[in-house]
Amino acid sequence: MQIYNTLTHKKEEFVPNTAGKVAMYTCGPTVYHYAHIGNLRSYIMEDVLEKYMRYDGLDVKRVMNITDVGHLTSDGDTGDDKMLKGAKREHKTVMEIADFYTKAFFDDCAKLNIKTPDVVQPATGMIDEFIRVIGVLIDKGYAYEAGGNIYFDTSKLKQYYVFGDVSEEDLEIGVREGVEEDGNKRNKADFVLWFTKSKFDDQELKWDSPWGVGYPGWHIECSCISMKNLGEYLDIHCGGIDNAFPHHTNEIAQSESYLGHKWCNYWFHVHHLNTAGGKMSKSKGEFLTVSGLESKGYDPIVYRFFCLQSHYRKSLVFSYENLDNAKTAYDKLVARIAQLTAENDTAPVDKAKFDELKKAFTDALDNDINTALGITALYDVLKADTNASTKLALANDFDRVLSLGLAEHAQKLAQSDSQEDIPAEILELAEQRTAARKAKDFAKADALRDEIASKGFIIEETRQGTKIRRK
Ligand code: AMP
Ligand code: ZN
Repeated sequence: MQIYNTLTHKKEEFVPNTAGKVAMYTCGPTVYHYAHIGNLRSYIMEDVLEKYMRYDGLDVKRVMNITDVGHLTSDGDTGDDKMLKGAKREHKTVMEIADFYTKAFFDDCAKLNIKTPDVVQPATGMIDEFIRVIGVLIDKGYAYEAGGNIYFDTSKLKQYYVFGDVSEEDLEIGVREGVEEDGNKRNKADFVLWFTKSKFDDQELKWDSPWGVGYPGWHIECSCISMKNLGEYLDIHCGGIDNAFPHHTNEIAQSESYLGHKWCNYWFHVHHLNTAGGKMSKSKGEFLTVSGLESKGYDPIVYRFFCLQSHYRKSLVFSYENLDNAKTAYDKLVARIAQLTAENDTAPVDKAKFDELKKAFTDALDNDINTALGITALYDVLKADTNASTKLALANDFDRVLSLGLAEHAQKLAQSDSQEDIPAEILELAEQRTAARKAKDFAKADALRDEIASKGFIIEETRQGTKIRRK
């Protein structure tokens, strides 16, 4: 499988450090607000990457942090702590905010069929480890104390800008919100590992450290959480493209200085979801969420489908018109699957056809996770000259990676179609019968079936679930 690696600026064959196993790290959300659908684009595409690796037979261990301290309103070292900003906005404690929005994030992920990583680690749960690693960086001469804070000294590195040339504009990220530059830094690119002499007197979360009471910088969190859970050699690190600099650049600086060798081989960056007004971002205040889409009547899975129709390395423009087009296409897809299911085809799967059509799908995903072509492969299956069993087997197989809930949505559709003109009283009796069957009270279930029959309806168990029809 080929993946584009931001570190080398080319597509490369993905070869994990240990054959058959993948150590994967993902930058998690900063939980001071709801995730917007731009953030979720990154998590959807990373989810496809993880699932495709598993589908390919690789044993993936995926770790994600939860940023609940240290991420400032600039991605550098200036501005307020985002968590504090959230707490002030809602008149709550930082931990209340963190708990609430962490749960909201995973609820959104569940609605988008995004799998929860194997390890999810809030930063506030690993403070001792951050302090230990910062201590080692100081001992090794990579970090210094100035003005009360601990800084990473980027001049100690042979190459700091590992992802290539960084423009002057990017370098200004640290001061982009009009906050004055930090005069304690020896070099402009240096960054904070530990805020001790806090600029923010009201910083709620503080911990004791050898350098005084303070709190960690955002970048050290990801380095430590990754190394602690995945060891010294990371196969692949994921995040949105805005994280490449300064966040991932700083992660590499810290981790490799600490370890004394190369840390991560592949860097997978998802490009942005934009609106007509530019990049969608939480700090702009107005942004779209999963519940916002739901309140407008969209099933969240339609948004997942919308994302998969584009390549992850292209920025994607969100508009309701585009989402409506995705909805129409998704509904058609589900209707076709429902139709095929209704055929109740008992013919065996045609193995040769299955392998041939599957190859188009794996070729697409092997080519730098080309989900758009993967979906084309799915359409080709539905049009192919083969039986319904083979088509359904392939659709279900691809959906292990795409996670579009095709079978489940087709089943719902079939049920709702068939139940349209069934009176509420009969539907209620049918539900009671299903409950009785579940509870293994078959005498009651049979009695309910007879009652339904006496009212002129027949109940049938089919592959799509329970169906009711007039006699
Ligand atoms: P945050 O919660 O701000 O730490 O961001 C969570 C993830 O979303 C990170 O991987 C970001 O790089 C990513 N991200 C932020 N904005 C966007 C966007 N507009 N489109 C896609 N990904 C984004
Ligand atoms: Zn990170």
